[in-house]
Amino acid sequence: MKKVYIRTFGCQMNFLDSEVVVGILAREGFELVDSPGKADVILFNGCSVRQHAEERVWGGLGALKKIKAKNRKIKIGVLGCIAEAHKDEILRRFPQVDLVVGPRRVKEVGIFLREVINKGNRLVVLGQGSDFLKDESFALRKNKTSAFVRIMVGCDNFCSYCIVPYLRGRERSRPSRDILDEISALVANGYEEVILLGQNVNSYGKALEEVIDFADLLKQTAKIDGLKRIRFMTSHPKDISMKLIEVIAGEKKIVRHIHLPLQSGSDRILRLMNRGYDSGDYLTLVAKLRQAISGLILSTDVIVGFPGETRDDFKKTYNLVKEIGFDNAFIFKYSPRLPAASAKMKDDVPLSEKEERNQLLLALCRKEVRK
Ligand code: SAM
Ligand code: SF4
Repeated sequence: MKKVYIRTFGCQMNFLDSEVVVGILAREGFELVDSPGKADVILFNGCSVRQHAEERVWGGLGALKKIKAKNRKIKIGVLGCIAEAHKDEILRRFPQVDLVVGPRRVKEVGIFLREVINKGNRLVVLGQGSDFLKDESFALRKNKTSAFVRIMVGCDNFCSYCIVPYLRGRERSRPSRDILDEISALVANGYEEVILLGQNVNSYGKALEEVIDFADLLKQTAKIDGLKRIRFMTSHPKDISMKLIEVIAGEKKIVRHIHLPLQSGSDRILRLMNRGYDSGDYLTLVAKLRQAISGLILSTDVIVGFPGETRDDFKKTYNLVKEIGFDNAFIFKYSPRLPAASAKMKDDVPLSEKEERNQLLLALCRKEVRK
């Protein structure tokens, strides 16, 4: 029996992809091990959303050179967004890598691995697969009480800084029956909580044959007997409806936490980011949410140092973050991601300035959380 080790870098979506890969490989007779030293197959599932995330994958891959030098039979694969974004660089810089698989082809990883093992060739598989929206009930989840459940893939928003639509493709929702069946099966296996995942869960249902939106899906999920808690992420501020707010407010099983990425407090920068709302819209939305949902926990993402972000723009972000008083905030230093639109703009905020703005916001958020 071949032993496989998988290391995951990145967001919840990547963690779920890895759980799906492990489930597929277990079905095909592979055994999961907890260190690369014990493995015949080493897989890295990596993120490409920010430069920092990529650097962690490059560092990890470099370290595998020695392992491969000791045992030429070991097969090394790179999966996920980083594979889709950087296949040429991976093949050139890392001769130890045998297999490169994009995020929409990971459900076929067993077939690809067999080919690499049996034929000894290098293999690259990218783009859209035929079944990437299908059943994921075979995922082998690490957590035995709380499960990530994918409700949609891809994204249509094309925020100007973001590479996700290019790597994970256009937005597509899973039929509600498939999602609800998967959750019922999880509950039957002892799961108490589900975390519904999508790049923008608020636009769930668009282009499905059935007429359904995210609020309807939440209501139906809440009806599943035995399920205790429902979480979800990520919510795009431009797509939160009053209907959705009322469902969250009225349904006890839905955890009162919304992750609502702000990205910037400057209307000029928000326009350049193609976010589809301004600071006033965001403030109005937060007021509505807090009024309707008692005990709401609000978290956010902010990017500092977007191209052309002046000190004045940053001050607007700082002041808005302070005014809102988030319970948690993730602050990211901007990095250009080709082919995303902003990568064609000059990355003109020096790294030292990005670092300073990052530290200022982090300090502010720590202070707010302690209050
Ligand atoms: N769909 C989700 C959303 O809209 O929030 C998740 C997108 S991304 C995986 C998570 C966060 O990474 C974004 O909210 C954004 O703050 C950050 N991010 C994306 N692209 C970035 C870039 N080029 N530079 C810095 N941060 C970036
Ligand atoms: Fe990227 Fe924007 Fe889509 Fe989130 S909503 S994945 S930030 S394009």
